[in-house]
Amino acid sequence: MTGTTAQPTSRARSWWGWGWADAHPDDAECAAMGALLPGTLARPLPVPRVRDLGIGSSAVQPPRSLARLVTADPADRAAHAMGKAYRDVMRALRGRPGRIPDLVARPLADQDVAELLDWAGERRVAVVPYGGGSSVTGGVEYRGDEHRAVLSLDLTAMGRVLEVDAEGRSARIQAGTLGPSLEDQLRPHGLTLRHFPQSFEFSTLGGWLATRAGGHYATGRTHIDDFVQSMRVVSPAGTGESWRLPASGAGPSPDRLFLGSEGALGIITEAWVRVQERPRHKASAAVSFADFHDALRAVRALAQCDLSPANCRLLDAGEAALSGAAQDGCAVLVLGFESADEPVTGRLERAVALARSHGGRAEAAKGSGDAAVGAWRSAFLRMPYLRDGLARMGAVAETFETATTWDRIPGLIDAVRTEVGAAALKATGHPATVNCRLTHVYPDGAAPYFTVLAAGRPGDEVALWDDLKAVAGEVLHRHRATITHHHAVGRDHRPDYDRQRPEPFALALRAAKGALDPHGILNPGVLVD
Ligand SMILES: Cc1cc2nc3c(=O)[nH]c(=O)nc-3n(C[C@H](O)[C@H](O)[C@H](O)COP(=O)(O)OP(=O)(O)OC[C@H]3O[C@@H](n4cnc5c(N)ncnc54)[C@H](O)[C@@H]3O)c2cc1C
Repeated sequence: MTGTTAQPTSRARSWWGWGWADAHPDDAECAAMGALLPGTLARPLPVPRVRDLGIGSSAVQPPRSLARLVTADPADRAAHAMGKAYRDVMRALRGRPGRIPDLVARPLADQDVAELLDWAGERRVAVVPYGGGSSVTGGVEYRGDEHRAVLSLDLTAMGRVLEVDAEGRSARIQAGTLGPSLEDQLRPHGLTLRHFPQSFEFSTLGGWLATRAGGHYATGRTHIDDFVQSMRVVSPAGTGESWRLPASGAGPSPDRLFLGSEGALGIITEAWVRVQERPRHKASAAVSFADFHDALRAVRALAQCDLSPANCRLLDAGEAALSGAAQDGCAVLVLGFESADEPVTGRLERAVALARSHGGRAEAAKGSGDAAVGAWRSAFLRMPYLRDGLARMGAVAETFETATTWDRIPGLIDAVRTEVGAAALKATGHPATVNCRLTHVYPDGAAPYFTVLAAGRPGDEVALWDDLKAVAGEVLHRHRATITHHHAVGRDHRPDYDRQRPEPFALALRAAKGALDPHGILNPGVLVD
């Protein structure tokens, strides 16, 4: 089967902030949010305008043969200058975005990608692959000065499901396919990739693969790694495609080299991925806990039994209040189950009973549990827009995530709350909020995800956030918790990643970079030098 669906382009994306330009909170909403956080600005910062950036002409011209794929339009270039982390949004609001790329290219086929890489290699032009641009770790910007120019390579014109193998439950999908379009194209086949990161609407298959993204399911197959059958990658050294295999013990996996390679080793142009039947049975409930540590024990028990909840998200009391899941100072465990072929209420009941045995309280009336789950879900999707609204009030509003083993989880969470909170108080004179939720749980550990809300330092918000993040990085390192569970390394996490990886592995990675990218043009500064 051959796909034809084009990706929708009619609604305008925000060039400076998250999502759709028309979905951002207005000035009054921003001010109302700011009023809840002491020490923020009296009025929101104005929405930034591309024309105020004074974008100059490009340092290079594309060759005539590629000109149809390339634009030097200032608005397009501005929109490709950075990802969507708080520090990106704040830099845009303060009129100090990262380096604006000279050109934006939208290849239509592998051959176009190969020609663009050849051209860039000859001219020493840095190539920054760009999927949905939802990176939160500085993955899609250029921070060096050793290249003559910067080309943002936007893959979204390669956005089709090319083939579906219904018998083998797999699909061949172009890397630039955005989440909603990917699901729209699979739906007529009754299939789903079932990979739903919070950024689903504005991120691509290629971006997920390049960053080893995590979907929102708490257990089981949720990382994009789990779905990969084979990948096609174009690098300056040539184009390669791994075999489609259900499993293979033939040496180190070629796919593993490119999963998480963040555009530093090659451009992923398509992949065969494992797809699934769409779930027909769903059930959810919320369980509250007066004691967060009881809740941690309950979640560990759930992760170690065979129930495999689709959702097993533990919100601490602050996070539960922020999302509207509870206002009574309790932590809330959001539980969900789904299946394509069998009812799941029995599994939900067993999970709730297990949570109760650890001190959890589940309302007998199913409706109230559903309300908490619904409140959490809509807050979850709206949260990035609200973050940008708070940024307009000069606040610090950002998240970071990690993972570690169960024995270290309670100490890690306590230390992050205490030390990041104290650093924010010292820097701003106002108490900060440091909330935690567990997004993914495993038999041997969990992935805590932190939200920091603090007053800013007017005009200096990005440096303040960098300082707080450095404090957090030290705490994670001390607890041997990874610098990222699913947000990737990018440029922001590079120093911590360098500390985390074994040196012989770094040697091998550098050698791979040298072999695949001899001119050093692919996403310079990411993963390896
Ligand atoms: C509000 C918000 C919520 C988020 N939620 C989640 C979440 O739930 N789970 C999660 O895992 N992440 C999440 N993220 C982070 C981000 O969405 C992921 O890293 C995502 O996988 C990036 O996909 P993208 O298509 O936007 O890639 P981009 O941001 O465009 O690129 C990310 C990196 O991959 C490289 N790259 C992109 N495409 C290719 C390609 N085809 N070939 C080679 N390299 C490529 C880029 O150069 C860059 O280094 C979130 C981000 C935001 C802003």
